[in-house]
Amino acid sequence: MKHLSVAGYCTNIDLNAPFVPAQLSDIDDSVLIRDVLNDLTSAWRQLGIKDPSTLSHQDQRRLLDAAITIAPPFSLNAHSKAALDTLLQRERASTTETHVGNLPPFLTLGNTKIVLWRGDITTLNADAIVNAANSQLLGCFLPQHKCIDNAIHNRAGVQLREDCDVLIKLQGHDEPTGIAKITRAYNLPSRYVIHTVGPIVQGAVTSDSKRLLSSSYSSILDTTQTVDNIRSLAFCSISTGVFGYPIEQATPLALKTVAQWVKANPDALDTVVFNVFSEHDYNVYQSALEEFICKN
Ligand code: ADP
Repeated sequence: MKHLSVAGYCTNIDLNAPFVPAQLSDIDDSVLIRDVLNDLTSAWRQLGIKDPSTLSHQDQRRLLDAAITIAPPFSLNAHSKAALDTLLQRERASTTETHVGNLPPFLTLGNTKIVLWRGDITTLNADAIVNAANSQLLGCFLPQHKCIDNAIHNRAGVQLREDCDVLIKLQGHDEPTGIAKITRAYNLPSRYVIHTVGPIVQGAVTSDSKRLLSSSYSSILDTTQTVDNIRSLAFCSISTGVFGYPIEQATPLALKTVAQWVKANPDALDTVVFNVFSEHDYNVYQSALEEFICKN
């Protein structure tokens, strides 16, 4: 299936322009939330809410995330978008960010530091982070769903879904498994998000699933070279959540694919982070990295 290359979409989503968030500095958070919710009436009605103003501040904020999750692309007018950017930037300023440059390497491959880091990828300051997307590419539509796709879209802002909508319309079909698309990261600490659809595994891991997972990793790495100045990249553990790929089998394949690519492109990246979320996943990656060091 033919898919769209970066050259075929970069200008449509202003990929190379720096994102400058709006700053409505004289407006309170509660007013910003109200303004955005006013623009999302049909979304919160769909969620069974009759009057958001009766909710606590915290519940209104949660409702805003949920309404954005279910709202179609291009639902917000320019003022609401600016209000949301302002809110997300304020929240970002009060959240502890981790700069990938400060993380200790687990090992070094050529000139590339390989880092294992446990935490929320939306707080990571890397040039690019990876999103485990679905084939619609538009982000998750399940309100409050704890997947990485939802976390990334909620913290980036609505521009991410808008870009993905542009890409998928230009492409003319759903996103195939095992390739990658890059967008700006908007209100996230990172500059870019690289979206990939990993394979879905039900039952035993097939050779096709292995090939496609490896292809997701290498396509993401290749994509970093299509944009100026991506020197650090943070992978999430693709396919190992809702998509059911056993992490014990996905991890050695991820390491092997990344190591091969880094060996072939020794000066391409300063840092590659393997970002995990749970303690169990951290332990799996730690063992796999130790085994990798022993064998190489
Ligand atoms: P997939 O559909 O590809 O399986 P998921 O979102 O279900 O994607 O999970 C992918 C991986 O991302 C899982 O290992 C999950 O624990 C992890 N994850 C979920 N939320 C976050 C987050 N905020 N930051 C980093 N990793 C996360």
